[in-house]
Amino acid sequence: MPQAIPIIPGPQVVPSAVCFKCELCCRFPEQDSFLRPYFTEDEIRQAVTHGIPSSSFPDHRGSQIEVVRHPKDEGFLCPAFDPITQHCGIYEVRPLDCQLYPFALMWNAQHERVVLGWDTLCPFLLEQAGEENPPRRADLQPSALTLPKALMEQAQRVAIYLESDNVLNALAVHPRLVTPFQPDVVVLQTLDRLTATLRSSNTRDTR
Ligand code: SF4
Ligand code: SF4
Repeated sequence: MPQAIPIIPGPQVVPSAVCFKCELCCRFPEQDSFLRPYFTEDEIRQAVTHGIPSSSFPDHRGSQIEVVRHPKDEGFLCPAFDPITQHCGIYEVRPLDCQLYPFALMWNAQHERVVLGWDTLCPFLLEQAGEENPPRRADLQPSALTLPKALMEQAQRVAIYLESDNVLNALAVHPRLVTPFQPDVVVLQTLDRLTATLRSSNTRDTR
């Protein structure tokens, strides 16, 4: 049986009270959005045990979840998401992909290195970086944005976690947890050990 990925240590990056008032995560404009969360084999098993239909996962060895139509026809939802309570129905066992956000694990623009960054689409992080909310997207220069010290330290802890042996092994088996380059993401640091692991296992697959 594959080893479970340990949960990310420390508090959630964005306070739950903030997320409950936000309308971004867990909703998707397109049915085939590449941002749909990826679940490993173990995470799929846990999600199904907690009530998600097994048919939500096209490949039980690891796959992105199939989203469902919003009841008011406002795009698509993760099937674990309750649009009335705004809660994740599998919060305790949500996948690494969801735990990480609004940090992002992706290939750099040249697809040469794996990097950790933060997503400027998250209004909380953008505000923490000193931008007005809602931001004037046209004027936004992601490379000029800096997070406060506490969040940078949190990102550093996440980077150490991602390059720990257990997590590296899981990422080698599930390279699709590393997304393609996203221009809205501010790159914080290169993950050299993870890059070398994916290169040596020749697993540069992505979504
Ligand atoms: S975008 Fe940010 S604030 Fe909004 S739900 Fe996601 S993590 Fe929370
Ligand atoms: S698993 Fe939970 S946190 Fe992740 S997208 Fe679905 S509802 Fe949101």
